[in-house]
Amino acid sequence: MAKVSLPVLLDRLEKKYPDARYELDWASPLDLLVATILAAQCTDERVNRVTKSLFRAYKTAGDYAKADLAVLEEQVKPTGFYKQKARTIQEACKVLVARFGGRVPATMDEMVTIPGVARKTANVVLNTAFGLPSGVIVDTHVARVSRRMGLTAEEKPERIEADLMRLVPRDRWTFFGPAMVLHGRYTCTARAPECSGCLIEDQCPQILEGVAPAEPASTKKTTTATAKKAAPVKKAAAPAAARSSAQSLELKGSTMHTLPASWRHVLAAEIEKPYFQELARFVAEERKTQQVFPPDDEVFAALELTPYEDVRVLVLGQDPYHDDDQAHGLCFSVRPGIKPPPSLANIYKELEADLGIKKPNHGYLVSWAKQGVLLLNAVLTVRAHTPNSHKDKGWEKFTDAVISKVNEKRERVIFLLWGGYAQKKEKLIDPKRHTVIKGAHPSPLSARNGFFGSKPFSAINHALEEAGSEPISWALPPV
Ligand code: SF4
Repeated sequence: MAKVSLPVLLDRLEKKYPDARYELDWASPLDLLVATILAAQCTDERVNRVTKSLFRAYKTAGDYAKADLAVLEEQVKPTGFYKQKARTIQEACKVLVARFGGRVPATMDEMVTIPGVARKTANVVLNTAFGLPSGVIVDTHVARVSRRMGLTAEEKPERIEADLMRLVPRDRWTFFGPAMVLHGRYTCTARAPECSGCLIEDQCPQILEGVAPAEPASTKKTTTATAKKAAPVKKAAAPAAARSSAQSLELKGSTMHTLPASWRHVLAAEIEKPYFQELARFVAEERKTQQVFPPDDEVFAALELTPYEDVRVLVLGQDPYHDDDQAHGLCFSVRPGIKPPPSLANIYKELEADLGIKKPNHGYLVSWAKQGVLLLNAVLTVRAHTPNSHKDKGWEKFTDAVISKVNEKRERVIFLLWGGYAQKKEKLIDPKRHTVIKGAHPSPLSARNGFFGSKPFSAINHALEEAGSEPISWALPPV
């Protein structure tokens, strides 16, 4: 793929976002480190509301290190994942006290030894608080925009950063990251990039090569940058070239044709096949007159949350939940606030019996998906309150292709097949290269016939460890 000219891009970014900066409030490197930890999966505005009083109560790393953890959890609760975040902040600050005299170190090598601090967080602190060009900040916006502009073909943030560090002059690193965040936030957005009038429209491969830009729903995270003079760009229609793929399917407004980036290269041919186009038309027609679950932009959520390269475990379900607000694109998982359905309740019982993990206060399995557990249903849509209504419309063919592609991976994958329906897919899996774990389905109809006591979670982790892979942390963080 062609790529935009870096000097031209830098020049135009500087003109458009001359004051690109981060929006998190901070007065010291320690404040910024804490705010950046809190900003994961949370808006900057909410983080700033929380840190206003937090920074008054905790002035030094020692204050956080000796804080009552339960109190700290309450104080950061509005930012979500508060137990994990409070623990991370405290652990990080204990290390700052023990090894760095209570100060935030000013080198990348030292920063990444602090618990909970990866390159992105380190770069935010080093670039912003210390003004050091330690690297290029790569968040979801920078990753998406860089790929669309042809600056990288990589998926993993560290590799994207390496590509950008090679392309962008070192003295522009601290500007480039925040400016690209702004471009992604205001113009090259995940769902509806405003290509018409975009600062790099004349060079962008998405336009020149007619590729429809698209990005997973999981990249909707808010950003940490702002520019004093940058105004949001008015919405404009995408150029004809970028629309062509959607129009060929007569599915304008639908994301059915849009695979998440990491799956595009393995499944692109599949969605061009006549059966998939027929399926896409069927689902689009259904949506005109019926309520269909999950919503259009969550149909591929399992693929979005678990990129192809990251799949280590595949759990196969059957049909999406069909009651209101339950399904969000992952098998067995329901949205926060929705009571776990009976099968999931049984999964939690077995999880406790197997690994002693208490059931969480929700049924939201995103944390598993993000660790490489592909939670795939065989059928990806359903009409509201009508189970199996989208069976035999083409989804099974598509998800068989997904399973076959996972089977092609060189690394060992653990396939968890619960119940007879899932076990029919065993023929798609090479048992010499991968591990297949079979068992009774967790539904109340069959859980007592072999599901309870089957210890699938420890079996998966054992197989992963045997293959030299990290075990899955099955404990779900609170939501
Ligand atoms: S032309 Fe469109 S896809 Fe390319 S960078 Fe601009 S908004 Fe993004």
